[in-house]
Amino acid sequence: MKNLDRNSLLNFLDAQKDEAARLLAQLIRFPSTQGQEAEIQEFLHERFRALGLETELLPISPSLKADPEYSFSDLDIDYDERPNLVATLQGTGGGRSVMLNAHSDVVPAGQWPGAFEPEIKGDYVYGRGACDDKGKIVVMYLALSGLKEFGLRPRGDIIATAVIEEEVGGNGSLALIRGGLRADAVVVLECTEFTLAPAHRGCLWFRAQVEGRATHLGKTREAISAIDEATELIQILKNYEKNLIAQSKGHPLFPEPEEAVQLNIGMISAGEWPSTVPSRCVLEGGVGFLPNKTLEQVKRELKEAVQKEGNEWLREHFQIDFPKLHNDAYETPADHPLVETFGEAMQEAGLDPTPKGWIVSCDARLFSKLAGLPTIVFGPGRLIDCHSNEEKISIPDILKAAEVLTLFLLRWCGTE
Ligand SMILES: [Zn+2]
Repeated sequence: MKNLDRNSLLNFLDAQKDEAARLLAQLIRFPSTQGQEAEIQEFLHERFRALGLETELLPISPSLKADPEYSFSDLDIDYDERPNLVATLQGTGGGRSVMLNAHSDVVPAGQWPGAFEPEIKGDYVYGRGACDDKGKIVVMYLALSGLKEFGLRPRGDIIATAVIEEEVGGNGSLALIRGGLRADAVVVLECTEFTLAPAHRGCLWFRAQVEGRATHLGKTREAISAIDEATELIQILKNYEKNLIAQSKGHPLFPEPEEAVQLNIGMISAGEWPSTVPSRCVLEGGVGFLPNKTLEQVKRELKEAVQKEGNEWLREHFQIDFPKLHNDAYETPADHPLVETFGEAMQEAGLDPTPKGWIVSCDARLFSKLAGLPTIVFGPGRLIDCHSNEEKISIPDILKAAEVLTLFLLRWCGTE
C-alpha cells in the first residue's frame, strides 16, 4: 500500500487556501434554493469531471413523490433539470468503497440582502450556504484533488455525491437510494464542528387539529371552545416532552438528552370572530427524539398521550397527522469499523475522535435506515451559523476537514 506523507498533504492543502475560498465563493453565488439548483449542479459536474472522475447528473423521477419516505414542502416544483450529481473515482479493486454526501441546496436568503454575494474576510467566507453545506462540497473536492495530485488510486470506489432538497427533508438522497446507489460506508458532510457523529436525533413535524362547538359569546358556557381544548392539548404535549426526555436518559452517544429531545409548538391558528366561540384550533410543531425511539413509535405515542390524558371531548375531537418533515433518528454502532477507521484518521490529524450523536437530523438517516449502510456525519462549521444572517465558515477548518477526509479515504479504501 502506497502511503501519503502527512507533511506533503498539509503543504498541498495549505497551498489550496485561496483556491478553496474562491471555489466556495463561486458556489455561494448560485442562489440554489429549492427549485433553483440546475446551475450549481451543472457547475459542479464540470468541476468534478475536470478532476478526472466519472461524473453523472442523475435526474429525479417525478414518481418519487409517491414514495412513502418522500418529504413534501410548501413548494411543489417539478424535477426537470434538477438532478443529483454523482462523481466516482473508480477503485482498482479489492478495497472497501465509500459514498461521500453533501448537499448543494440552501435555505432562502431570509432577511439577508447580501446572502448570495459572498465575502471573504480574514479566514472566513460569508454567504448563504457557506456552512450549510457548500463548504462541505469544497471539503470533498479538496480531498479528491489531493488524491489526484499525489497519484493515489484507491482500491475501493469513492463515490462523491452532491444532492438537492436536503433542506426540504432529503429527497435528493432518497432518489439516489431508490436508484440503487450503494457503498460499503457513507460519510455525510455536515457541520458537526469536527465531532464524529455515528448517530443523529430524529425530528417529526406534526399538525394537530382540535374541534370545538361554535356559538355566540353570550352562550359561551354552553359552547366548547376549540382554543380551550387546545390549551389542554398543549399541556398533554408538554407532559409527553417531559416523559420523552426521561426515557432518553442513558444513551451513550447522547449524554445530555435535553439537548436533542424537545417538543415545540411553532404555530397556532384558531377562531373566526372575537365574539364567536372558536370551532377549530390547529397547532403545528415538531418533536426531537433519540434513536431509542422510531418515527412510528413517536407518532403512536403522541396519539396515545391524548387518548390517555385528554378529556372526553378532546379524545373524540382531536386529530393529528404528519404531512411534512419526518426524519427518523439513526445510529451506527460506535465500534463499527467505519467509526473506528474515521476516528483513527481524526486522531492522526490531531482531533478528538470521541463519537457523539448529532443534535439535528440530516440525510444520514436515509442511508442508514433505508439502505442499511453504515453511516457517519462529520464536518467543519458551527450549527449556530447555519441558516443565520451571517452564515460563515473558516477556510482553515475546511482544509482541516479535507485532511481528515483524505486520511480516512486512504485507510478505508486502501491504495495501490
Ligand atoms: Zn445541511
